[in-house]
Amino acid sequence: MRKKVGNTVKRFGARYGATLRKRLLEIEQQQKATYECPKCGVVAVKRKFIGVWSCGKCGYTFAGGAYTPYVSKK
Ligand SMILES: [Zn+2]
Repeated sequence: MRKKVGNTVKRFGARYGATLRKRLLEIEQQQKATYECPKCGVVAVKRKFIGVWSCGKCGYTFAGGAYTPYVSKK
């Protein structure tokens, strides 16, 4: 069902507000970014799936964070 597509966006905005939307934009950029491979050191690591990252150079695939390959441990 594809009626009232705009309604979803409106509801989304009302619920989360500008701050979180900004953060989501940052997350989206992080998802698209390329990261350094922990195995070969070449900046060619891209997100394959959520939490799964793969190096385009050596093919090394590893589990990482949902949005960045490195999870900050706190
Ligand atoms: Zn690699």
